[in-house]
Amino acid sequence: MAIINNAGVILNSHELIEVPISKRAEIFHEWHKSLLHEVVPVFIQKWEPKLHVTVKRYFLQRMKTRWGSCNPKAGHIRLNTELVKKPKDLLEYVIVHEMAHLIEPNHSDRFVAILDKHYPNWREAQNELNELPISANLANP
Ligand SMILES: [Zn+2]
Repeated sequence: MAIINNAGVILNSHELIEVPISKRAEIFHEWHKSLLHEVVPVFIQKWEPKLHVTVKRYFLQRMKTRWGSCNPKAGHIRLNTELVKKPKDLLEYVIVHEMAHLIEPNHSDRFVAILDKHYPNWREAQNELNELPISANLANP
């Protein structure tokens, strides 16, 4: 196994073992972020014209209790870096969900109607996400 750290340096498993555990989690986190940075903008660009919204900025971060969040006034969305370990359709759902909050901040009937129209399978995706653990298991990154 090899892993690329945030400086773009490839560490093999032998080198990784020499890295203290605290630092190792940080390397995995940076790696997860870099993987997400490759796909998140693609999904955002796909959904901006469909939803008629603009994401001014997105952020990737560790989140303990949720998969994503949205600041509708600022036009920002935040995504849990743990999503890197989930199927891509679930990542896409969280992105669509947070982008729908740019139209409707609350989980109102209007919000549900937006999801029903644009992402009809959203309930399945939501149920699947609810069954998955949210926060990182640092012993098994
Ligand atoms: Zn929501």
